[in-house]
Amino acid sequence: MFKLVRTTTLFILVFFLIPKKQFGQKLQRDQIKELAHQYTIASFPMLRELLSIPNDAFFKEDIEKNVQWCEKAFGNRGFSTQRLETTTVPLLLAERKYKNAKKTVLIYLQVDGQPVDSTKWFQQSPYIPTLKKLNNSGDWVPISWESVKDYHDDWRVFARSASDAKGPVSMFLTALDATSENEITPNYNIKVIMDFEEELGSPQLPDAVIRNKDLLSADMLIIFDGPRHITNRPTLTFGARGIATLQLTTYGPVVPQHSGHFGNYAPNPALRLSRLLASMKDEEGRVTIDGFYEGIQIDETTEKILRAVPDNEEQIMERLQIAETDKVGTYYQEAIQYPSLNIRGMQSGWVYEKVRTIVPDRAVAELDVRLVLESDPERLIRLIKDHIKSQGYVVIDREPTKEERLEHPKIATLTHEISYQSFRTDFDSEVGLWLTRALENAFGETPIRIRMSGGSIPISPFVNTLGIPAVTVPTVNRDNNQHSPNENLRLGNYREGIQTMIAILNERL
Ligand SMILES: [Zn+2]
Repeated sequence: MFKLVRTTTLFILVFFLIPKKQFGQKLQRDQIKELAHQYTIASFPMLRELLSIPNDAFFKEDIEKNVQWCEKAFGNRGFSTQRLETTTVPLLLAERKYKNAKKTVLIYLQVDGQPVDSTKWFQQSPYIPTLKKLNNSGDWVPISWESVKDYHDDWRVFARSASDAKGPVSMFLTALDATSENEITPNYNIKVIMDFEEELGSPQLPDAVIRNKDLLSADMLIIFDGPRHITNRPTLTFGARGIATLQLTTYGPVVPQHSGHFGNYAPNPALRLSRLLASMKDEEGRVTIDGFYEGIQIDETTEKILRAVPDNEEQIMERLQIAETDKVGTYYQEAIQYPSLNIRGMQSGWVYEKVRTIVPDRAVAELDVRLVLESDPERLIRLIKDHIKSQGYVVIDREPTKEERLEHPKIATLTHEISYQSFRTDFDSEVGLWLTRALENAFGETPIRIRMSGGSIPISPFVNTLGIPAVTVPTVNRDNNQHSPNENLRLGNYREGIQTMIAILNERL
């Protein structure tokens, strides 16, 4: 809980004892904290208003309302805005130049949200933001918005996109207010790119980035998105794995056959697929395809970086209810530095109540490969394809014909799609050092620095096409029910997010 009385007193002291002009220098930790607290309270009406606008990207007229809201919000704060039109909904670019600024920082914000199933929400609507606290029986109960002026850090706002990712949008706007109204001027120019189709996989983004190369040019990119490390301490994330997907099919008889009549005679595609997949990995989950992990080296410096993340692996294993882990790395952070080869689904014949006594006609596996910077995705896919061939298969990218079935004993169909590449920024890059300094100033501790997150975000067009180094600044609570019913944002995280962003605007570049 935030100690209101003590800090309010402190704020008054800070506010009156230090001449306002001095705020124009650089804010100290206590000042940042005070500003964050005061402006958090002042920002709740804005947060509520923003969360009240439905933002499922499937409904274009709703998205238009969000675009207009953002145009107004940034326009009111001295930004010029322009729409970057696409074939669907636009991206919005807001820009503000500051005196004596030499560098430009690009900020990526996501405004759309996942679809909602209102019946699964424990409130009137996902678009009526509801303030709640935990009662003694462990239930979230609504409380009046009036009480928010004396808010507790553990209270939460429940609404779609509270965490993913309108919360951060509101944090950033609030940080802009807190700094500009106290004459704190960034010494860099700001461009903000707003994405209204992130939850659809940002299908328009790569093309829009290429078409608007000059407009988007910047020295560095910050992404305000995602949850902090599980300890909820200040966190910076320096990269994310990319993703490619594959579909692999093996074949048996042209249509399913009676297993009594043809078991022992017609080859079973499920068994073939199982053998094929099993041949790609060893007992301990490591890919055995030659060259799959080539180029990845965890040197001493990297090892130190990875080991510094305070993961509690016993806790992770308990949460997943697993007795052992794969051995691609010897610990969690190491494991996600490598590309993965994952079976995300399999199907052959029927199971459960639909099970039948047949030799199936085919077996299908859906695979995903999480990519890292060292591995060329085309090369990894070629390695997988070559491996399948080495197991005696003719590999094609469509259904086999009758002639092909009769000619080749083993046929596999393999198709793939490379969604986007990985990105990774060095800790001691300019943006990395600058953000680390900003967070150290805000919280008095070095942030948890994560070299690479396991999941993927559509940032590689900026990093790889425009060559802008990127770092993610996550702020929200990890248990926020992102993408699910009852999404929420912890108010302590909201306040510390504002604190983080004030510190970034305040930090000299
Ligand atoms: Zn999301």
